[in-house]
Amino acid sequence: PLVLGIETSCDETGVGIVRGTTLLANVIASSMDEHARYGGVVPEIAARAHLEALTPALTAALAEAKVSLHDLDAIAVTSGPGLSGALMVGVAAAKALALSLGKPLYAVNHLVGHVGADVLSGEDVEYPTIALLVSGGHTSLLLVRDLVSDVELLGETIDDAAGEAFDKVARLLGLPYPGGPQIDRVAATGDPAAIRFPRGLSQPKDMDRHRYDFSFSGLKTAVARWVERARDAGEEVPIADVAASFREAVTDVLLTKAVAACRDRGVPRLLLGGGVVANARVREVAAERCAAAGIELRIPPLSLCTDNGAMIAALGAQLIESGHAPSDLSFGADSTLPVTVIQA
Ligand code: ATP
Ligand code: MG
Ligand code: FE
Repeated sequence: PLVLGIETSCDETGVGIVRGTTLLANVIASSMDEHARYGGVVPEIAARAHLEALTPALTAALAEAKVSLHDLDAIAVTSGPGLSGALMVGVAAAKALALSLGKPLYAVNHLVGHVGADVLSGEDVEYPTIALLVSGGHTSLLLVRDLVSDVELLGETIDDAAGEAFDKVARLLGLPYPGGPQIDRVAATGDPAAIRFPRGLSQPKDMDRHRYDFSFSGLKTAVARWVERARDAGEEVPIADVAASFREAVTDVLLTKAVAACRDRGVPRLLLGGGVVANARVREVAAERCAAAGIELRIPPLSLCTDNGAMIAALGAQLIESGHAPSDLSFGADSTLPVTVIQA
C-alpha cells in the first residue's frame, strides 16, 4: 500500500511516503536550532514550528515521491508518546487530511515506529528482535516478537534519557546544544579509561528490579562533581578525557544491558534506533559485542534512526498488510502512550 506518514512528537516535523517496504520520500524539518539557546527542546516552540513546517514538508514529500494525495491508500500518524502540543499538530493535520480525502487513518506508537524503520532497509527483517531506542526523550529496551502485534517493554530510563545526558554533560563542559555530536567529536581525542565514571543500575543489587532499566542522572552528577573538583583545585579540565570517559560509561551500560537482554531471552538479534545511534562509540561497541555474542546487529541509516515520517508510514503499511483496521477517529494525542499499544 501507498502510505503517508506524519511525525511531530518532538522537534522534528517528519513527512514520509512508502509503498509497502519501499521508501519513496522522507522529508524532515527540525526546529533544533530554535531550541539551542534554551539547552533543550521547548514544547511550545516545537509545536509552533510543526504548524509552520508541516504543509511545506507535505508538499515536498509528495513531489519527492512523485505521487498525489489522491494516490494514497492510507495515512499514518504518531499519536504518542511525545510532547502533547507537538503531537496535537500532527494528529489534527492527519485527521483533516484523512477526512477530506476519504482515506483510512492509522494512529501509531512513535517508539514502535522506530522499530518499524528497519523494514525500509531493503533486507529481510526477522523477529523476534531486541530493540534499544536511545534519543533525547527516550531510553527503552524492547522485546519485539512481532512488529504489529507483540511488543514488550523490558526496561527504560528511570530518570534522564541517554541523549539528554549527552546534552546536559556537554553544557557543563561548555559545549553547544545539541551536545551529543559535540561530545562525540571532542571524545575522539580523549582517553576513555582516564576517569572511571559510574555505570547506573549495574550493581548486583539492581539486577532483580532494574536489570534492563537505565539511570543517567547519577552519571551526570558524577561528571559535574569531577569537573567542579578539578576547577576548584585550579587544574585545567581535560575536556577530551572527560568527554571520552563519559561517552564510554553511557555506551558500556547501554550495550551491556542490550546484550544481556538478547542472551536472557534467547534472541539473536539487536536493533538500534534513536538519535544517539549517531554516536561513533555506541556503534563501535555495539558491533564488537554483538559479533562476540553471535548477535545480528541491525542499524538503519541515520536518517531513519532519528525522528522521521517514513518510519511511521512504514509501520502503517505493515499494519495494513497484516489486516489491521484503521483507527477510530476519536483518538487523540497521548503523551504517555505505552509502547505495548502499537496502534491507538
Ligand atoms: P525523541 O526522544 O522523541 O525521539 P529527540 O528529538 O530527542 O526525540 P532524536 O532527534 O532522535 O530524538 O535525537 C536527538 C538526541 O540525540 C539529542 O539528545 C542529541 O544530543 C543526541 N545525539 C545526536 N547525535 C549524537 C551523537 N553523535 N552522540 C550522542 N548523542 C547524540
Ligand atoms: Mg529530535
Ligand atoms: Fe524518537
